[in-house]
Amino acid sequence: GRVVAEEPLTPASLEEATVRAEKLREELRYHAHRYYGLDAPEVSDAAYDALARELEAIEARWPETVTAESPTQRVGAAPSSQFAPVRHAQRMYSLANAMDLGELDAWLERVENEVGSRGCTFICELKIDGSSLALTYEDGVLLRAATRGDGVTGEDVTANVRTVKSVPLRLLADRPAGSAYPWHVEVRGEVYMPKASFERLNAEQEAAGAPRFANPRNAAAGSVRQKDPAVTASRDLSTFMYQVVEPRALGLESQSAALRWLRDAGFRVNPDIKPCSAGPDVHAFCEWALKIRGTLPYEIDGVVVKVDSFALQDELGFTSKAPKWAIAFKFPPEEKTTVLRQIRVQVGRTGALTPVAEFDPVTVAGSTIARATLHNEDEIRRKDLRIGDTIIVRKAGDVIPEVVGPIVRLRDGSEFQWSMPSRCPSCGSAVWREPGEVVPRCTNAGCPAQRLERLGHWASRGALDIDGMGTEIITRLVEQGLLHDVADYYVLSRGTLTTLDMGRVKKDSSPVLLGETMAEKLMASIEASKTRSLARLVYGLGIRHVGATVAEALAAAYGSLDALLSASADELAAVQSVGPVIAASVRAFADNPENIAIVQRLQAEGVRTAEERSAPARAQTLAGTTWVLTGALENYTRDEAGAALKALGANVAGSVSKKTSYVVAGADAGSKLDRARELGVTVLDEAELRRVLESGTPPTGAAS
Ligand code: NAD
Repeated sequence: GRVVAEEPLTPASLEEATVRAEKLREELRYHAHRYYGLDAPEVSDAAYDALARELEAIEARWPETVTAESPTQRVGAAPSSQFAPVRHAQRMYSLANAMDLGELDAWLERVENEVGSRGCTFICELKIDGSSLALTYEDGVLLRAATRGDGVTGEDVTANVRTVKSVPLRLLADRPAGSAYPWHVEVRGEVYMPKASFERLNAEQEAAGAPRFANPRNAAAGSVRQKDPAVTASRDLSTFMYQVVEPRALGLESQSAALRWLRDAGFRVNPDIKPCSAGPDVHAFCEWALKIRGTLPYEIDGVVVKVDSFALQDELGFTSKAPKWAIAFKFPPEEKTTVLRQIRVQVGRTGALTPVAEFDPVTVAGSTIARATLHNEDEIRRKDLRIGDTIIVRKAGDVIPEVVGPIVRLRDGSEFQWSMPSRCPSCGSAVWREPGEVVPRCTNAGCPAQRLERLGHWASRGALDIDGMGTEIITRLVEQGLLHDVADYYVLSRGTLTTLDMGRVKKDSSPVLLGETMAEKLMASIEASKTRSLARLVYGLGIRHVGATVAEALAAAYGSLDALLSASADELAAVQSVGPVIAASVRAFADNPENIAIVQRLQAEGVRTAEERSAPARAQTLAGTTWVLTGALENYTRDEAGAALKALGANVAGSVSKKTSYVVAGADAGSKLDRARELGVTVLDEAELRRVLESGTPPTGAAS
């Protein structure tokens, strides 16, 4: 489909902007408190960032709406009164974010313009997803550890941080000549919890009935902010330090020199640090980091790019929140926010009505999405989704778009509830929801939407695989009365296809036709589809509950469509992986004369409906018995013997249990035979197996 450019939605008037901004601030404040104050976030960082971005966009467009206490103007959250406050000698800042390479480039360009011909080296570091930490040493001895808090005042967590092994209690570095007495040095960095320790901690929390931590960052922050240092000590925390406060006092002139000093002084410093001279190098580092991210033993959420020279850093300075000489390139988020515009109902092949969310297009994990299935009405109620809601969307397993839920506090009263229509949106027939089922269905077998789905399913790759027969052509054929059911595919002629009107016009306003080449290709595809396997054919019929696996089982058991369609419900239900529900559904299909007429027309047109060398369908004389094969047989492979037993309706299992009816023991049968004897299961030899398979009658006696 068309890719629509992503525009952050800005309100139309100052009044609207003020209302929306205040709602966003309230929402952000709530989540910041859960995140920083309680270490228990409710939404993902990506969702939080998306809301913060929206607020920033409004504030940029309507500067009148900015308030001093707006979350866009502040760092973190106020320190908890549970800890002694620490006023930072120098403010602890946050970082500006680049959400994509474009924003990163814009920042690089801005810096390079500022620096001009002097040139500039950048230092790329991994952005460790932990909690900021400031460590102050007096005469080389750890004096105090503090959290960032709101950047001005942090929390005194010295007793806790003393238990973190990678924090040196005494520096390896010497006091620089000429420094004041007592000699103070402050370093900053990140305290984090390795992924494996996080998993272990959550397992322990669960076993103890305590709440799980949302992510390693919150687990680290929560572990540092404990009342009892013994608890912190029991949590496997580590650190990476990356900043020296007042580095000039130590004779350090650049970030790279500061990182070397930190390492020499005994701190843990992340080894993946790269000096870069220009944009392409920075890009390459970001791409590399994204690639190796999953292999690191700790979480990172981006790359921090810093101007190396402290002299240039001083020139560039700070905003109210963050240094201008650094930027955090954030990895593409898997979650975004957008607006739910509409819920549309899709009619499936079996008439099932599925609600589908349609929202403003957003790019998630690298591709643009604009709709996602909502599965059923109960799901919509459970999530409390309303048309007009700001919603969080993501890609489940990085592929399938999914609506996580609405952001309820952002509602302004104009949102409205949706309910399932009582008539099919395609044909207008009444909709029927069977008691106990979540999915309503259109009951009209002639429903055009269902027909299109059925025809498309037949031609699809997993079924009869009519190459080139896509939705557009099928739609045209249906519209022009050339296709009603799947048998009609086989009476299409080359002439008809060649002149098929595609519903579009050329420049000279003559209609676009399908044309010779495509027609020929389709004719060949249709011909090839006549000889697909029986399993594909059975699947292609689109019988309710008969997916590819069940179709295979049925094809193997019956060998031909005629045999399958004349089997009784009981016989069908005895086939491995077919239960009474599927059996009834197959019977219902076979009992409908319209379906039988279609099957007969398919056969008349030369569509193969029997397996080429299939044995005649056999009576299901072994239905309800479970067999286990063990040891080597002389005349059969294990698979052959299993398939032959299944054709008689037997279940074949891999291990012996109380439910096993018979064990067939070949040469060198081992533990399964022992187990059978233990449980008193009847054991047969190969001769008896052969008799059963040839005669089709159940075993008469035991061999041992
Ligand atoms: P940030 O985490 O995006 O970036 C700044 C921090 O990065 C620094 O303070 C520092 O601690 C850290 N960092 C890691 N590696 C670094 C390195 N090599 N060099 C320099 N700094 C490094 O900004 P923030 O202000 O700490 O917090 C904002 C983050 O918190 C966002 O990601 C936001 O999504 C999240 N948040 C989430 C919720 C929620 O409810 N999920 C609420 C509030 C905030």
